[in-house]
Amino acid sequence: MQTTFTLAQLQDPQFASSEKILRACVHCGFCTATCPTYQLLGDELDGPRGRIYLIKQVLEGAEPTGTTQLHLDRCLTCRSCETTCPSGVQYGRLLDIGRKVVDERVGRAPADSARRYALRKGLLSRPLFGAAMAVGQLQCPASSHPATRQASTTTNQIALLISSTVIRLRETGRQATVSGHGSSGSVGAGAGALGSVTLKA
Ligand code: SF4
Ligand code: SF4
Repeated sequence: MQTTFTLAQLQDPQFASSEKILRACVHCGFCTATCPTYQLLGDELDGPRGRIYLIKQVLEGAEPTGTTQLHLDRCLTCRSCETTCPSGVQYGRLLDIGRKVVDERVGRAPADSARRYALRKGLLSRPLFGAAMAVGQLQCPASSHPATRQASTTTNQIALLISSTVIRLRETGRQATVSGHGSSGSVGAGAGALGSVTLKA
C-alpha cells in the first residue's frame, strides 16, 4: 500500500513503524475471511482492511470523527486477521497506534470514558467480575444456572405433555361423535403416548 507520510512524520518512530506495516499490505482482503466483526456486520470498515485504510488516512492527516473511532472500537483485537494475511501485516501493532491517535484527536464523552474504565477494572478484578456474573445469572436464570435450567426443562416437558393430551382428547371426542351414538371406539391417534383410551358415548 502506498503511503504519503512527510519526512518530518517519519522522524517519529510511531509513524515510521506504521509506514512499514502499511506498505506490507497488498489490499488482497484475505484477512476479512477470518474477521468476526466483518462476518457479523458485513461492512468493509468493520474488517481489518477497512480499518487499515482508516488508520492510514488519519496518520496522513485526515480528520478522524466519532464514526472512525467507532469502527476502531468495534475491533476485538483478536488478531485472527493476522493468521490469514499472506504479507505478514502486523495489524495489531498498527491498530494500537491508530487507536491512540484517534482517541487523542476525537476524545471521548465522560460517560463513555467511565464505562470503558469500569469495564477495564471489572474484567481484571475477580470480586467485581464475580459480582457482575451473579447479577447476569439473576437476570437470565433459565440459561445460566444448571439447577434452574433443569427445572425449566422439566416444566417445558410437562407443559408439552399436557397440551398433547388435550389435543388427543379433542381428537378422541371428534372420532367418537363420528362413530355414532351408543357405540364404543378405541382411540387410535391418542393411543400411542398416552396408552389406550376407550370412550363410551
Ligand atoms: S483483530 Fe479480530 S476483530 Fe479486529 S480486524 Fe482483526 S480479526 Fe477483525
Ligand atoms: S490479508 Fe494482509 S495484505 Fe491482504 S488486505 Fe489483509 S492485511 Fe492487507
